[in-house]
Amino acid sequence: MTHRVHVLPPAAFDRPHVETRPDVIASFLTDAAHVAGGYAAGVAFPDSAAGVSALVASARHVLPIGAQSSLTGGATPRGELLLSTRNLTGVSVTAGAAVRVGAGVPLADLQRELTARGLYYPPVPTFDGAFVGGTVATNAAGAATFKYGSTRAWVEEIAVVLSDGSRLEIHRGETTASPDGWFELAYPSGRVVRIPVPSYRMPDVPKLSAGYYARPGMDLIDLFIGSEGTLGVVTGAVLRVIPLPRRAVVLVTCDSEGQAFAVTAALRREAARSRRGDGPLEVAAIEYVDSRTLTRLPDEAFRRAGLARPPRSAALLLAQLETAGDDTAALDRLGATLDACGVRTDPSVALPGDERQATRLLELREEVPAAVNAEIAAAKARVHPDIEKTAGDLVVPFERLQESVALYRDTFERYGVDYALWGHVSDGNLHPNVVPHSLDDMHRGRRALLDIARGVMAMGGAPLAEHGVGRSALKQLLLRELYGERGIEDMRAVKRALDPAWKLAPGVIFPE
Ligand SMILES: Cc1cc2nc3c(=O)[nH]c(=O)nc-3n(C[C@H](O)[C@H](O)[C@H](O)COP(=O)(O)OP(=O)(O)OC[C@H]3O[C@@H](n4cnc5c(N)ncnc54)[C@H](O)[C@@H]3O)c2cc1C
Repeated sequence: MTHRVHVLPPAAFDRPHVETRPDVIASFLTDAAHVAGGYAAGVAFPDSAAGVSALVASARHVLPIGAQSSLTGGATPRGELLLSTRNLTGVSVTAGAAVRVGAGVPLADLQRELTARGLYYPPVPTFDGAFVGGTVATNAAGAATFKYGSTRAWVEEIAVVLSDGSRLEIHRGETTASPDGWFELAYPSGRVVRIPVPSYRMPDVPKLSAGYYARPGMDLIDLFIGSEGTLGVVTGAVLRVIPLPRRAVVLVTCDSEGQAFAVTAALRREAARSRRGDGPLEVAAIEYVDSRTLTRLPDEAFRRAGLARPPRSAALLLAQLETAGDDTAALDRLGATLDACGVRTDPSVALPGDERQATRLLELREEVPAAVNAEIAAAKARVHPDIEKTAGDLVVPFERLQESVALYRDTFERYGVDYALWGHVSDGNLHPNVVPHSLDDMHRGRRALLDIARGVMAMGGAPLAEHGVGRSALKQLLLRELYGERGIEDMRAVKRALDPAWKLAPGVIFPE
């Protein structure tokens, strides 16, 4: 184990072509946060790490982008050269349970390749069009984080291009921080750059995408995972994979929110028992959609899922079970658990192998952000062009879930804003979304989210669970609330060491 890593020189390679035609650039000027006003100096599509190296070495400001599914404006350019990773392809399953994959591979493609070999990559976000590089850059998490953790836990190696075009290959377990908190990069010229590990303490939550990772004795790979393009361009990774689980998808209609949370707690207990070898009901993920959100879904969404529209006060849970072969024992145990919680409606079940029904149920969950985003887009078009998505990405220790939801509801009501609530309930990670009907609603919603974030931090939670910080002014403010100005300064010190010219993703995570 060492605290020093050797840097490879920039590749001797021709600079890839930079596309400057406005009609080509136009399709890369926004991400899923739909923030207006993106502009870029050009866009390039390198197809190798050497191409990335040559491009970065010669550019003034670079914004790496994947699928631009960022919900934080982190993949919306502000004048930089866009480095699209979409041609960094290639998937090869290596010996042992791992896959070597290019940064530009969409998760859906990766999963397809793995499924064909009976393998699976677990820590995927809800949006499976995201690229591998983007998910590493944001330490993405998702529903199954409950069982499997977030992206960080699955990344064994990364290949990174630094801001001067030089390259790093980082293998987990090889380079750790010194006891007094630094790493060193040794350049071929003999120059040594010291990188200080930030001194703040990260909250103890199952998922966190809140600036740079920092822990005593940490692994260098963890500094880059979750750094949102600000420290280097990830060109490829080696990810751990597992044998494809036998998955059943179950949709449970609950009479009330209280019942939904009681079912979630009971299923979490069943999962804990199963992991101790003491029960048949393994649960990988539980998603929640509250009654306010369900009323926003069109009838058609329920029809497509093969369901009747639930009563107005109902809340939905969508659970992914892993049955290890004995489906009957798992489903019997599920039935008993639901009975014990007083659930009266039979669940809709997609048995292992019934991918068609599983997809129909999972698509209902997908309809939720789509419906809310459509309402916001309509308000933006009809009421005011500055209206934007305004959403929380909060995580609390599971024992504080009920209390946190009471906080969300009370705060939004106090500020008089409409909202919808859904998310990864098995992790205590919900997404309260403001549904603004005016620009003033949006501003009040932002103030409400700031109050909520403070309350969540007081519960031992975090206001930045999985989507990252990006260029969102609100999220950057939440990061400052979490770690204080000193914490942001610690991050700036890391950035200055690795990217003194502030070339990569400037203004992402924190302002210069
Ligand atoms: C419908 C929907 C559902 C979502 N659900 C989830 C969810 O469940 N969990 C979750 O975590 N997120 C979720 N997201 C957010 C988003 O999918 C993730 O943040 C994802 O990891 C972004 O990947 P991307 O390829 O789109 O990256 P982009 O959006 O293109 O980029 C995101 C950031 O990473 C940087 N970046 C991208 N590629 C690289 C690279 N190769 N090297 C260095 N930096 C890079 C960019 O500069 C930017 O700062 C959701 C988004 C949508 C639209």
